[in-house]
Amino acid sequence: MDIALARDWVRAIAAAIAGQVDYLTLLDAAIGDADHGVNMHRGFTAALADLEDPRDRTAGDVLVRVGNHLFANVGGAAGPLYGAAFRAIGKALDEPVADSKQLLAAFAEGLAAIQRLGAAVPGDKTIVDAYTPAMAAFDQALSAGASLATAAARAADAAEAGMRATTPLQARKGRASYLGPRSMGHQDPGATSTALIFRAFAQATA
Ligand code: ADP
Ligand code: MG
Ligand code: MG
Repeated sequence: MDIALARDWVRAIAAAIAGQVDYLTLLDAAIGDADHGVNMHRGFTAALADLEDPRDRTAGDVLVRVGNHLFANVGGAAGPLYGAAFRAIGKALDEPVADSKQLLAAFAEGLAAIQRLGAAVPGDKTIVDAYTPAMAAFDQALSAGASLATAAARAADAAEAGMRATTPLQARKGRASYLGPRSMGHQDPGATSTALIFRAFAQATA
């Protein structure tokens, strides 16, 4: 991961979110307050508008900046969670070029930040349900000697599987948990945006 890849990743995320605003909002309408698409779009639009700051020297600088924009602009539950994640990933990538192992460690910092803040575990029907299997798949692929692009594709596949697996779950964190058993039968919006973020990473590395 270098600064160019970090910027490509953010551009790919912003494009994916822009294309799925209505879908994410529809998912959130079923078990939340119908703002997840709009929230994420607002955040990544702000991040995209500030992606070329010449002071940024590393991938980490870019991703910390993205995290700050998500904190300031997304709002809701997802804003602080994704804000903290991108900041943590960025802080872990403080060299001009990070190898795959450093990237894996940085992604792990992102997940740890989300869990420190939101206290969700796998199965709670949240972002964590897509992020955790993506991390495991990324780690496994790299350990097996896969290229970054292949490992990123496996991570995206696993994130999407985790996202789909949220459908039958009862939410135990966030707004959807207020619905109790009525949250079952609906795919989690945050797990869905996380899958978009990992798919965008695979696209950026391909
Ligand atoms: P809000 O619920 O405040 O309107 P959003 O709609 O933007 O915020 O985001 C909702 C998503 O946030 C949920 O679908 C869920 O995936 C995620 N989420 C909520 N609480 C948590 C948590 N404690 N940990 C991880 N993810 C969470
Ligand atoms: Mg919402
Ligand atoms: Mg809201």
